Amino acid sequence: MAERNKVGYIGREELVDRIRKQFSPEYGEFLLIQAGYSPKVCPKCGSTSFTTLWLAKPNDAIDGKMWAKWYFWCDKCFAGNLSKNIADANVKREAAKLASEQCRYLAEEVIPSFQRFSEKYHQLKLTFLTALQIPNNPLMQIKDGEFINPNFNREALEKELPLIAKELLEYLNKLEYFAIVFAAGVADERVAFPVAGAPFMGGVNMCVVPLYHLRATGQGRFQSTMTLYSMWINRVAGAAAASLLPSMREWMKKAETNRVELIGISKPSNWQTMYSKLWLKLKPKDLAW
Ligand SMILES: [Zn+2]
Repeated sequence: MAERNKVGYIGREELVDRIRKQFSPEYGEFLLIQAGYSPKVCPKCGSTSFTTLWLAKPNDAIDGKMWAKWYFWCDKCFAGNLSKNIADANVKREAAKLASEQCRYLAEEVIPSFQRFSEKYHQLKLTFLTALQIPNNPLMQIKDGEFINPNFNREALEKELPLIAKELLEYLNKLEYFAIVFAAGVADERVAFPVAGAPFMGGVNMCVVPLYHLRATGQGRFQSTMTLYSMWINRVAGAAAASLLPSMREWMKKAETNRVELIGISKPSNWQTMYSKLWLKLKPKDLAW
């Protein structure tokens, strides 16, 4: 016990040693890289590209300082000081809390941004999101997290995209910000899936053409969006929608109990409006975590 209170200066070697002993091997190694004690090379895959994500709450300033936390991981293999060892109860709680914060972000930022995009798209009577090259064939297919066999009308895309690029990119960037913490394993996607699954997948579905185009031409990777999308699409497809349906039913039931208006859901983007209303009505405690 006395040992714990002993104050002393420690050398670099000792610090490195302590970090290695104190944390799980993966966490420790990445902490050393981030702190500059180890070379910037991923011990798992050898990549030299890392991302640091700062999550700050501007409305949560203490003595003028902002509350923030960070995550650090390898861009290539997603190893890092994330919540891979999610067995820890604190980590679990953090991951669930962050998931719920992201769901709020989806309702308050992503969906309004989508609506601005969608309104302008319809105002200008654009067609590139759904215009086909070869009629009666699928617009796009997805395999191993990649869009393949594109069958969109390139002429329509090239002509129309510049007219709405600003709104589209704003939306896709926000969608990516929503997805990044789930794709990286920091936020618990299983918590978000029952509420955010449908609006997220629907939002991506609407934009497969520009997503394909931006990725193919190197104008944007949207890697986290793609990762989360294929994970969730596979889950829905894999379970033949069996697992999604009960949660959707549950969702509707809660919506009724909360007297959310569910009018006009036949309109194309109305599931999103519905989601926004639902999320804002339901407090996180009502949801299943
Ligand atoms: Zn790596």
